Amino acid sequence: MRATGTVRGKYRVHGPPPRTRSREHTTVQTLLAKPVTQIPDGDLATLRRKARDCHACPLWKRATQTVFGAGADDARVMLIGEQPGLQEDVQGLPFVGPAGRLLDRALDEAHLDRTTLYLTNTVKHFKYELRGKARLHKRANAAEQAACRMWLAAEVARLQPRVVALGAMAAQTLFGSTFSITRERGRWHRLGPDTEGFATWHPSAVLRTPDEQRARVYRQLVQDLSEIVKRIAADG
Ligand code: SF4
Repeated sequence: MRATGTVRGKYRVHGPPPRTRSREHTTVQTLLAKPVTQIPDGDLATLRRKARDCHACPLWKRATQTVFGAGADDARVMLIGEQPGLQEDVQGLPFVGPAGRLLDRALDEAHLDRTTLYLTNTVKHFKYELRGKARLHKRANAAEQAACRMWLAAEVARLQPRVVALGAMAAQTLFGSTFSITRERGRWHRLGPDTEGFATWHPSAVLRTPDEQRARVYRQLVQDLSEIVKRIAADG
């Protein structure tokens, strides 16, 4: 996988389709640590359209819309978060709320151009509980994560990217249930012959970190994202 030049001084991380983009579903299933029962067919636009009508778990009933992945269709790096928040639910796009703004700042400091990446979530619908009129984020349970994994598996299959898991939900989906971000963040793991990835903090975890430690955790996020640039540079 190669960087293809620079955009405003930042690395571009998309390029020509890799030779292995059309690999069969059985191979794709090995890229995620957790199993999927089926992988929807189609290119990213088709998947996005199909996911609008997904009823594979109950989360669609109370959410505004499906928040599918977005970004460059030929991205060589995919950032995977956990599940949409309130702003993502309203706008239908991943990483557009407060955590998305922090991620934008971190990407900028790491010299990565967001427009060359593909950003998605492990679960594609907003889950919440009502407190008065407020819709407060609630973590998707294991069954909901399992039902939604087919969409992430399909996105990874289409792009065959380098993947960066942001937060424990994505990290454990990719690297297994025992994976610990505290112990293993920032270390590359091979996921298949042409795919590798690592995990780091979710930007919302940085926002939740107590004031006195937040700057340190944020620096770790930037440092980990910088690994992508180094890897791309090492490709030549
Ligand atoms: S959360 Fe995922 S599996 Fe559940 S309805 Fe939405 S798209 Fe389908």
